Parts: sequence; structure tokens; C-alpha cells
Amino acid sequence: MMTEELKAYLFAEEKPNEAQERSLHNFIIETLGHDTEIEWEKSDKYSGGFALKIGETLYDWSTKGRLRQLRDAVTGVSASEEVIPLIKDKLSEWTPKAMAEEVGEVLTVGDGIVTISGLRHVTYGEILLFEDGTRGMALDLRPNEIGCILFDDDECIKEGSSVRRTGKTAGVPVGNAFLGRVVNALGVPIDGGGAIARTGYRPIESPAPGILDRQPVNEPLETGIVTIDSMFPIGRGQRELIIGDRQTGKTSIATDTIINQKGKGVICIYVAIGQKTSLVSRLCETLYKNGAMDYTIVVSASAADSPSLQYIAPYAGCAMGEYFMNKGQDVLIIYDDLTKHAVAYRSISLLLERSPGREAYPGDVFYLHSRLLERSAHLSDDLGGGSMTALPIVETQEGDVSAYIPTNIISITDGQIFLETDLFFAGQRPAVNVGLSVSRVGGDAQTKAMKKAAGSIRLDLAQFREMEVFTQFSTDMDESTKNQLTYGNGIMEMLKQPQNHPYTQDEEVIMLTVAQYTRFKGIAVKDVKKFIAGVTAYIKETNPNLIERINSTGRIEDIDRQDITSAADKYLARFVKSAG
Ligand code: ATP
Ligand code: MG
Repeated sequence: MMTEELKAYLFAEEKPNEAQERSLHNFIIETLGHDTEIEWEKSDKYSGGFALKIGETLYDWSTKGRLRQLRDAVTGVSASEEVIPLIKDKLSEWTPKAMAEEVGEVLTVGDGIVTISGLRHVTYGEILLFEDGTRGMALDLRPNEIGCILFDDDECIKEGSSVRRTGKTAGVPVGNAFLGRVVNALGVPIDGGGAIARTGYRPIESPAPGILDRQPVNEPLETGIVTIDSMFPIGRGQRELIIGDRQTGKTSIATDTIINQKGKGVICIYVAIGQKTSLVSRLCETLYKNGAMDYTIVVSASAADSPSLQYIAPYAGCAMGEYFMNKGQDVLIIYDDLTKHAVAYRSISLLLERSPGREAYPGDVFYLHSRLLERSAHLSDDLGGGSMTALPIVETQEGDVSAYIPTNIISITDGQIFLETDLFFAGQRPAVNVGLSVSRVGGDAQTKAMKKAAGSIRLDLAQFREMEVFTQFSTDMDESTKNQLTYGNGIMEMLKQPQNHPYTQDEEVIMLTVAQYTRFKGIAVKDVKKFIAGVTAYIKETNPNLIERINSTGRIEDIDRQDITSAADKYLARFVKSAG
């Protein structure tokens, strides 16, 4: 039976001779189970061979095509054309066979989006390869055409050019060699440091660990920022949102946390989405300077990169993190920021002609972030006990946390650290709003020492802020009100912390204990920092055993507390005397 639809086309420079035609017909009968007419089309695209197209399937028998099949078999799809010379030697060991390839045709191209006809069996998220080597990802499957986003320039793609399926979903190379490097969303180094040897290859999208695969968050991830460690503790495997207006110190909290992981065995991944390249390079410099780059991977899809790269960047970073988590290691991943990620996804969706919903975001924007953040977990001991802690960042407009994207992400995460412009400009930095911030699971992960030391500080601060408003205009206050104001102002002053200056656990425990014990009686607000620094240094010097005990056991017994308070008494007497 010969149907019009199944006619075969032969692309070759020369018309096949009789013997060749016979073997081609044999091949067709072998693959289809019946014969069909072959039409020869003169083409110089398949040098060193020919290509046979039956329906939508292409059998590429050119030198390049065979090499590509070999390369795909040896290295996987991600390898670029440059590896062809490297594997040319292996050609002799390889038995070539005509591998079927489904081929489609480009209908339209523009703005990094290509629509394609054919490729009926393509799957969602599959990588597609264009004639010139450009890669894309199928993201919109409609009955008659496919919408595809491009990872490279669309300059060389023209209407009518062919597209191959690869049968692989988008993935990134992973491995230990990525530590200390800056890569783009496809895992290609962009720090000028040469190729990175990869250990494996992971799909950028993979299902989140199930309930049985997890265990509760029970180990702290210290940020080194006393405000956060004492009042909004973060545990390994938690997802804590950092939210605030522009320029309120969001990124700084993230970088300080990375710096504080030095020597703690935590792998850090910083994903920059839609940021200025200059900012990313400054951040890398800060990490280098503080010796934090050794255990950090920076994944950057800058504002100049296509929305497609910005869209996949967090998933790529997450896949790199999962590699370490599955090996039983602890990972900290920062998504800076998910607002820009949602914007990139919105532009892709609009170009793919999906219907816009609220704020012109597509309907599945919630799923966009929930499937990303759900991949952070504390794995069960059976699975190695690794963890991935996520600190997503979201930018708000004029402190509006009830906008679409912020509310979505707040509902997915285990708490948020809310940064406020007013506090920031009043000099209270980090500008954490204590009333609106919360950490829902980290309390279980706090060390006993920190829990005890933090005591009622959050409640005290809330009372203080209330009283502050109350007493704004009153002149004569009773003694206890005055004391409470001194105490509150003192704590606020103590919580001010410069950038790149993380505290160790023992320092935090001491300063919190001292603050609640002395209540800063007799100390002027401007002297608070000096006093705290002095007391800490004094205790470290006179009682090193205590520091050692706090750090090794994570506990603070009554006797330790007494040690701290009596040292505070002694030091305070000296301090007040010298202050005069
Ligand atoms: P953007 O919205 O532009 O991303 P951001 O919210 O990430 O900004 P950062 O870039 O972290 O904010 O910080 C803004 C500025 O505030 C920077 O110049 C930084 O140096 C300064 N800053 C941040 N934290 C502190 C701090 N604890 N002490 C002093 N200065 C700080
Ligand atoms: Mg920032």
C-alpha cells in the first residue's frame, strides 16, 4: 500500500543508483513493514552521505549526522558541537545504525520564542535541537503546533528550518567541581575559568521528596545575624522568605548567611535572577574576599539574558543543590529574586499567547514557585539525611505584602523575614520588622543555648514598640516605664549589625543573656555596642571554658548563666565608672 502521506524523500547530492535504491527500499520495508515511493531531492545539506525522510521521521546518514548520533550516545545532548573532533577517534569502535529522528519545521520565530509544526510526540519540557545547533525547550503543546523557548540567540533560525527532538528533558551538569564557580542557567561557566568537569547530569525539573522521604527540621542553620538567630531561627531544610522593598538589605542578609557557613560544611548556591551583572560580580567579590567562594556556586541569569534563561535558572540551581543533598550534605540555596523570576515567566507566557490572569500573570504562576520551593527538604536518614534550606527573596512595592506574588510565596514558605524601608533609613540595619516577621518551624531547630538566651526578647521588643508610641509625647514617666524604654532602645541598638560581620553562636548567646540580665541600666544608648563588645571580649578572655562548652554542647546550664551574669556585673561596674 502506498499512501501519499508516507512518501519517502531522499536528500542527497546525487541521484541514487539502482543498487542504492534497492537497499533503501529494503530499509523502508524493514522499518515500516511495507514499501513506499522514494522521491529524490537534490540537497547539499547532508555532505558525506544522505538523509531519508519518511513522514516526520528523518534518518540522517551524513557524516555530521552520524557523528552527532555517536556524540549523543557518548556524551549526552548537552555537549556542544566542539566535542565532535574529540570523539572522532572513537568512530572506529562504533557500529552506526540508522537512528530515527522526529523532525519538525519552524513556523515562526521571534523574541526568543519559536513555533514549530510536526514533532507530534514531543513531551513537555523536552529539549529541541535546531539545524544550527541552537537549543530550545518545548513549553507549549498545542494540537497543531508547539511553542518552544530558546536558550541561545534566535539569529540563525529561519522559517522552514528543521528541528530535531532529543528525547531528553532540560538538565544541568552537576558535580563538586562547580564549587567556587560562576555559571549560567545551563551550567556553562561564565567566570572565564575554563571548563568544569562534571560528575553527572540532573534534570532541572524533578519531583519534590515525598512525605516519607522527609524528616522534621531539627538542626539549626545559623545566619550569624543575631536578630534572625534569636527571634526567627532558621532550620536546615526550611524555606524562609526574605521580603521587603527595594534597597532594604535583602541581598545582604543572604550573603551574610553564606559567609557565616564557613567551616560548617554547608554548600551554598546563590541564584541571581534578572539582576545587573555588575551587582552579581560585586557579590562574588564579597564572597571571595570573605573566603566563602570555596563552598559556593553562583548561578546567574542576568537582566541581559533571555527570559527563558531567567525562567530556568532557579530550577537549575535547585538541581545542583539536590546533587549535594542526595549525597547527604547540607545545602543552602538563595533565589534572588523570585519577583523577577515571575516577571520573566510572565513575559514568556504572554509571548506564548497564554491567557493573562491577575496582574497579567498566567494562571499557573503559583505552581511555578511551589514546585520549586517544595524541593527544599530535610531528607530522612534512610536517604542520607541531607538537607536543602531555601531563602527565596521577594521584592515588594511600598511594603505591600498583599500583592499577588508576595502573598503566593508567603503561603508556600515556612515564614518570612520582613524588611522595612523606614527602619532601614532610621539606621536600624538589618531592617527586620519584628512584628511582621515569623519563622514557623525553626524554633524546633534552635540549640538549647540559643533558645534559653533569646528568652522573651521578641515579646519585650513588641511591648517596647507599643510603649514607644504611647510615651512619644509624655515628659514625666515613672521609673519602670523609663527602665523599659532604656531596655528596649538598648536592644534595638544591640541588634544593629554591620554587613559581612556574622556573630558566632557563643557571641550571640552572651550578648542576649547580658542584655536581658542588665537591661542596660545605666548605659547610654550610644554606648550599648561598646558595652556588648566589651563584655563579650571580657568573658572570652577570662572564661574560655565557658565559650568552649556553649559551642560544643549547644547548651547553657544555670551555672553557665551565672558565670555570664557575674562577669557582666563586674564588667558593668568598670564600664560605668570609666564612662563616668
Ligand atoms: P535591591 O532591591 O536593589 O536588590 P536589596 O534589598 O537586596 O536591594 P542590598 O543590596 O542588600 O539591598 O543593600 C542595599 C544597601 O544597603 C547596600 O548598599 C548595602 O551596603 C546596605 N546595607 C545592607 N545591609 C546593611 C547593614 N546591615 N549595615 C549597613 N549597610 C547595609
Ligand atoms: Mg538585592
